[in-house]
Amino acid sequence: MSYNKLRIAKIVEETPDARSFVLEIPADLAEKYRYRAGQFLTFRVPHPEGAFNRCYSLSSAPETDGLPKVTVKRVEGGKGSNWFHDALKEGLTLEVLPPAGRFVLGDGDAPLLLFGGGSGITPMMSLIKSALKAGQRRIRLFYANRDKPSIIFDSELVSLLAAHNGRLEVIHHLDAEQGLTQPAEIVAALKGFENAEAYLCGPGPFMTLVENTLLAAGMPREKVRLERFEASGNDAVPIEPDEGDVIPSEITIHFEGKAHKVPYRKGLSILEAARAAGLNPLSSCEEGFCASCAAKRIKGKIVLAKNDIYTPDDLANNWILTCQGHCFGPEVEITYDVV
Ligand SMILES: Cc1cc2nc3c(=O)[nH]c(=O)nc-3n(C[C@H](O)[C@H](O)[C@H](O)COP(=O)(O)OP(=O)(O)OC[C@H]3O[C@@H](n4cnc5c(N)ncnc54)[C@H](O)[C@@H]3O)c2cc1C
Repeated sequence: MSYNKLRIAKIVEETPDARSFVLEIPADLAEKYRYRAGQFLTFRVPHPEGAFNRCYSLSSAPETDGLPKVTVKRVEGGKGSNWFHDALKEGLTLEVLPPAGRFVLGDGDAPLLLFGGGSGITPMMSLIKSALKAGQRRIRLFYANRDKPSIIFDSELVSLLAAHNGRLEVIHHLDAEQGLTQPAEIVAALKGFENAEAYLCGPGPFMTLVENTLLAAGMPREKVRLERFEASGNDAVPIEPDEGDVIPSEITIHFEGKAHKVPYRKGLSILEAARAAGLNPLSSCEEGFCASCAAKRIKGKIVLAKNDIYTPDDLANNWILTCQGHCFGPEVEITYDVV
């Protein structure tokens, strides 16, 4: 997957430490950069010690915003976010990979119960705007921040509330006034939204608290979707064959419309096997939480060393993380051509 050069059309100061970057998409890249609300872009950040990648969720929605927009919060001591804030100007170009991610709205019209913490609001804004425009779902957003000045999209949310009388509800939580978010607040937010689909994004401890509270309150696991901005700290499971499992000597990978027979050996992830064979699928965190490298299993046994993103439903529908997927059995076949 190769990077595209996209020009920064506009930079918006959202809060003292959050800026949005609106990107221009040339006509010949329009199809490649078509996205769904909740997805993210991956950016190549130049650095004297070697360039690296950072992902940023789209805070725009395809149904309501002309150009795609990402919103970056400055992280103290962070290499990527500070480069976005300090080095970038309107008119400069960025090296970008196409939209990816599966933190998108499911079909149907179940209400949406969204939990955003800090910069975790970015995919929520996209989901909210998309859902308000495209359907009739009721939406409740629980939005936790340090204090009032750090609320990103405060005025945009006020406008959305005014424009969508009754369908959108926002519950603000401010640590400075209320202390850290407590389980009782999550239980209260769930009231009347017991049949909703929940979407969570924010700092790790916030997500853990919300997820555990929703599950303990009886929300089914498959109704809770997570977008992690950082690794969860969950350990990878050791990958060992079960008795009778053979390791395939080659696997079949469908990529960019072609089927490739790719050499495979014990210990390789599918992504590593693909790369060794000269394929170049999209990837980013390579720690099992961003889903840039998502693909689907067609045949054979695939074990994921780590999975911080897929629900049991996703797994049952054969979604795999190729950076974490190891192959067993005589025949294994996967496809990248579904994402
Ligand atoms: C799918 C996805 C979507 C995302 N969307 C957004 C978004 O919409 N908006 C957003 O703002 N962010 C988003 N992120 C997070 C973003 O990608 C970056 O992780 C974030 O901006 C921090 O990157 P950084 O390079 O600034 O920090 P890093 O340099 O990675 O540092 C992160 C933290 O670690 C500390 N640190 C770094 N090195 C060391 C060290 N050696 N010892 C001790 N501490 C250290 C830093 O001080 C900092 O606190 C997203 C992430 C993912 C995976």
